[in-house]
Amino acid sequence: MLPMGRDDRDAGADQLRSLIAQSCQLLARRGLVEGILGHVSARVPGTDQILIRARGPAERGLVHTEPADIRLMTMDGALSTTDREAGWRVPNEYPIHTAVYQARPEVTAVVHAHPRAALLCGLAGLTPRPVIGAYNIPALHLARAGIPVYPRPVLITRPQLAAEMLAAMGSSDVCILRGHGVTVAGPGVPEATLRALDLEMLCQLTLGLARLGASPPEVPPADLAELPDLGGQFNVQMTWNALTGE
Ligand SMILES: [Zn+2]
Repeated sequence: MLPMGRDDRDAGADQLRSLIAQSCQLLARRGLVEGILGHVSARVPGTDQILIRARGPAERGLVHTEPADIRLMTMDGALSTTDREAGWRVPNEYPIHTAVYQARPEVTAVVHAHPRAALLCGLAGLTPRPVIGAYNIPALHLARAGIPVYPRPVLITRPQLAAEMLAAMGSSDVCILRGHGVTVAGPGVPEATLRALDLEMLCQLTLGLARLGASPPEVPPADLAELPDLGGQFNVQMTWNALTGE
């Protein structure tokens, strides 16, 4: 493979900016983030830099995110001097993102949001169980893997707190932050975003079942065997195109 040139990197970064902006808009439309709270980031391939949804002087909320709102940040949470002087600021909770990237080389995108059903599940001590099947197969697998909970409702503004969250999250791609929100990781912005939507659907389902007093059995092995992995083209690319084109 030819080494990546500067033009290739710039084009790749522009594509990531667009994906992150689409992710912020989608999460806002689906109610996973409100107002100016919540952020999405991506690792720039081949570098130790992160593209992250920053806040500028013309901040209008996540639903109005544009590619220009996505700025380059170092692993220490620093923006360029030019960006700082122009009034850009990284989110206070940027350590959520940098901690995951530094500990998990396979992760290239991180979503942090404050969705309502995950909040209620965390506070109520309810954990999504693998009770659905063909309704949403990726969500079934998410529930089967188990959903860890970080128990402290703190603002994660320091590396020490982010390390605690990471310890709770372990090798999972999702973590409920009790009394706070969720952290979701993935091998790309679409994957992490769709996983965040699936997690919130599972939490809504869990709340609904709890209100009904229902406790359905988990999907049995014979039925699991009839639920194939439909692949990334179906589960990620087609779904992402459908949801971002709404
Ligand atoms: Zn937060």
